Amino acid sequence: MRTSQYLLSTLKETPASAEVISHQLMLRAGLVRNVASGLYTWLPTGLKVLRKVEAIVREEMERAGAIEVLMPMVQPADLWEESGRWEDYGPELLRLNDRHNRPFVLGPTHEEVITKLVANEISSYKQLPLNVFQVQTKFRDEIRPRFGVMRGREFLMKDAYSFHLDESCLKNTYQKMYDAYCRIFERLGLDYRPVIADTGSIGGDASHEFHVLADSGEDDIAFSDTSDFAANIEKAEALAPQGTKPEATEQLTKVATPNVKTIEEVAAFLSVNVKQTVKTLLVKGDDEIAPVVALVLRGDHQLNDIKAEKISGIATPLTFASDEEIQTAVNCNAGSIGPINLSIPVIVDRSAAHLADFVCGANINDMHFTGANWDRDFQNYSVEDIRNVVEGDPSPCGQGNIVIKRGIEVGHIFQLGAKYAQAMNCGVLTEAGKNQILTMGCYGIGVSRIVAAAIEQNHDQYGIKWPSAIAPFQVAIVPMNMAKSARVKETAEKLYSQLQQAGIEVIFDDRKERPGVMFADHELIGTPFLLIVGERNLDNQQIEVKNRISGEKSLMDISDIMNLFA
Ligand code: ATP
Ligand code: MG
Ligand code: MG
Ligand code: MG
Repeated sequence: MRTSQYLLSTLKETPASAEVISHQLMLRAGLVRNVASGLYTWLPTGLKVLRKVEAIVREEMERAGAIEVLMPMVQPADLWEESGRWEDYGPELLRLNDRHNRPFVLGPTHEEVITKLVANEISSYKQLPLNVFQVQTKFRDEIRPRFGVMRGREFLMKDAYSFHLDESCLKNTYQKMYDAYCRIFERLGLDYRPVIADTGSIGGDASHEFHVLADSGEDDIAFSDTSDFAANIEKAEALAPQGTKPEATEQLTKVATPNVKTIEEVAAFLSVNVKQTVKTLLVKGDDEIAPVVALVLRGDHQLNDIKAEKISGIATPLTFASDEEIQTAVNCNAGSIGPINLSIPVIVDRSAAHLADFVCGANINDMHFTGANWDRDFQNYSVEDIRNVVEGDPSPCGQGNIVIKRGIEVGHIFQLGAKYAQAMNCGVLTEAGKNQILTMGCYGIGVSRIVAAAIEQNHDQYGIKWPSAIAPFQVAIVPMNMAKSARVKETAEKLYSQLQQAGIEVIFDDRKERPGVMFADHELIGTPFLLIVGERNLDNQQIEVKNRISGEKSLMDISDIMNLFA
């Protein structure tokens, strides 16, 4: 590729609209351009990276035994009615009508389409198990698209779906996919953690998320500093003031707020930014000085109106584990509670766990729960348990202590069970000749989000430092004053064709630009090697090689250059 015939599109200034470093660098390095909120054009350099991520994902899916299909992005509403999600999915589902006024959706995910397909195509247990995947554009009308392609509305996902006769077969495939995901993130060169996750609205049983560790991540993950135990603390999201996910607020959430000294401090914190506060508190835990604090937040109120109220009174012991139990609490105290919205996260001081039976304050006078209490027994830990951990706690797995860091969710796998197969009558004839509904797994990877996540983890003040597996170019040729030196031009051209012939992705900077401008562009784009061809070094048949990752510069004999790529 010659820069003179390419769309380099680098920018000198950092666009003010971009909050996180990956978004800034994706714009500056000419990877993407914004079209509308959450919608992006991938420029040539960005597309190269995207395709590389996609290729690694595809290879590992195939290695895991999944086979590729491609489903339409536009899906008929009746499939969504059949699964029940036409009602349930909420405003992230973009609905539209065709010219005949028939309703459709832009697919945010493809369980319905694939389950329907398998219901039609598969009739015998002999055709199972089946694992299919696609790499397809999804559309989710995110309430707050942000951080560039990290949370777009249109984005590229690899989604896979597996179908089984029984649970043990599902578990087997689930494990294969889990392992494939680990290989993918290793090959991508990313620092990641698989975490035990919540299954949310999609339903189902076991689930893991894969997180790339980065400060800009929107989730907190807690993991052991010595074992591979990890879990997501995504439920803190239930406290986000806007865009509160219905599925997140439907359950009570217990979040530790250990370093708070007074109720007033809690209130002050909360009125600023609840989500942030909870995260801060989670990290800076110190139970000794903490008072017993519990808050009940109504799912529908304005978070900046919250008032924390003092805990008082002792009533019947109760574990806040399910809506029914909350309802019981409500009923026990109906006189003072009034009509209560069950979509309520609870913030509770961790030290309250040592006590039993306290009242949770609400933002409206006299709206209290009594008898709040729960079990902090980590022996059989679950997602519920991990939500209460604080940095430094012994890990529930028995090895090491808990570390809490921000993560970017780049993958998510679920054991779905029969939810969709049941709703859409997806079954086969068993060996005994009976119809049996299938059990399913589903497995997503955010292909476009990975590009941003990789940059969050790999950059410096000059730009992107791509892991070599996904660098858009392996090497850039930067000739110095080519217009004035026939020798420089000839050497650069020769190197260029040599590298091209060897199948190495090379970008030849043949622009009439000052060397400083060219260096800055290639550092920004993050090409792993820069070959600087200059008059002076040619006297010794040498060129200067700069390693973008280590920053090292060295002189190399031209005849040895190909060894860089051996
Ligand atoms: P998030 O919690 O970030 O909203 P999710 O849990 O809704 O993601 P899944 O339904 O699990 O997402 O989808 C599988 C993968 O698709 C996610 O792990 C993530 O990598 C990616 N993804 C989801 N939403 C977006 C988005 N708006 N933009 C880019 N990638 C996304
Ligand atoms: Mg989401
Ligand atoms: Mg999520
Ligand atoms: Mg998810």
